[in-house]
Amino acid sequence: MLEAATPRIIAVVGTGVAGATAALTLRQEGFDGRILLVGEEPHAPYRRPPLSKDLVKRALAHERLRLQPPTAWQEQGIELRTGTKVTGIADGALQCSDGSRLPYDRLLLATGGRARVLSYATGYDRVHTLRGLGDVPALRADLQSGGPLLVIGAGLVGLEVAASARSAGLDVTVLEADAEPLRRALPAPLRRAVLGLHRAHGTRVHTGVTLTGFARRDGMLEATTGDGRSWHAHTVMVATGVRPDVELAARAGLDVGDGILVDALGATSDPRIFAAGDVALYPDPVLGRHVRVEQWNHAQQHAAAVARNMLGAGTPFTAVPWSWTDQYGVMLQIAGHCAEADSLTVQGDIGDFDFAALATANGHPVGAVAAGRPHDFRALRTVLEQGNNSPSQAAVRTPQATQAAG
Ligand SMILES: Cc1cc2nc3c(=O)[nH]c(=O)nc-3n(C[C@H](O)[C@H](O)[C@H](O)COP(=O)(O)OP(=O)(O)OC[C@H]3O[C@@H](n4cnc5c(N)ncnc54)[C@H](O)[C@@H]3O)c2cc1C
Repeated sequence: MLEAATPRIIAVVGTGVAGATAALTLRQEGFDGRILLVGEEPHAPYRRPPLSKDLVKRALAHERLRLQPPTAWQEQGIELRTGTKVTGIADGALQCSDGSRLPYDRLLLATGGRARVLSYATGYDRVHTLRGLGDVPALRADLQSGGPLLVIGAGLVGLEVAASARSAGLDVTVLEADAEPLRRALPAPLRRAVLGLHRAHGTRVHTGVTLTGFARRDGMLEATTGDGRSWHAHTVMVATGVRPDVELAARAGLDVGDGILVDALGATSDPRIFAAGDVALYPDPVLGRHVRVEQWNHAQQHAAAVARNMLGAGTPFTAVPWSWTDQYGVMLQIAGHCAEADSLTVQGDIGDFDFAALATANGHPVGAVAAGRPHDFRALRTVLEQGNNSPSQAAVRTPQATQAAG
């Protein structure tokens, strides 16, 4: 697989799952040069998904979350540098926050994203975001000292934190600016089902709420709207999404938009520099446009594919992204791009969270969602992966019901 001009030093910026997977894949594929894995966080690579799900009920120690045993990096000959921010890229080398300069022949940017903040709610105690392990201790301590908790943003992370806190007995309110939660993740019937699940557990969810103000009043935090509504809380969790971390790429003069622009091989506008994972804006073959996906499995699969391409494999990335969410013990599995759907073919009962559904747009499969039916979900993923245009061929159980998805 190694081409004639084989790189001797490959640097990877970002120790998230994409960076870690890329470094390990390079070695597995037979690359025997230097691999530098450089990350700003103080921890060796770890799993982020449990942070929002197990937030209140379990201690989230790094030892329980790490991706590899501590000795694995050294054993693989991967030079892991944690606690090191890369501040610049120039003349084929990384400039690091500790003053070091690390030359590379090929570079992978796997810089992921950062939690979005609300400018008007910054600088207050007990207002949190959640992206990494470093965010956990203070958020957890505030939740353990009791509610009410106000979650701003009803995306997957916000709803998982809400479910985690509510399941631990806290009084929880969720505010969402959109008319419905999860519009980017799920088709309409599923969005309504998830909303119902939260309300059935006693979580208040208010949609169409645009906050305009924030204050501390009588020891409580207060969020207000322009039309005079207000909510009071002991703790506030801002879960308004992720901002792709393109700063380094932009400063290096690479093409960036809502992510680092890459081709189907993962190469940026500089052929020696690649990008993968949450930060990469890549061409999706089903949608026929560039997309950015913020999902664990996608970050892993994309990084492995791009690492092979850095060694000359030349294989376009075509995998269908898939992920999961866990709320009040209900696990939803989600594949493809469900938000694009105009129709949903459902087997089972959405209300009981025992179903498998194929999402189509203009008659073409674009996504799948399931709960409690892992085999059916796998079959639907196969349909998506094969670009199968006939939903009835999915090996899922009948009867079916077709619903509008938008
Ligand atoms: C709380 C939470 C729960 C989640 N739950 C799920 C789930 O249930 N299912 C699912 O599919 N996905 C889930 N996700 C999303 C999933 O974790 C991400 O898609 C995945 O972690 C992205 O990996 P990544 O390596 O691309 O980016 P990241 O994990 O963001 O890693 C990027 C790394 O790069 C570092 N970095 C950035 N800039 C620099 C620099 N200049 N120098 C050095 N280092 C730098 C960052 O510090 C970071 O460590 C969840 C995410 C969060 C935060």
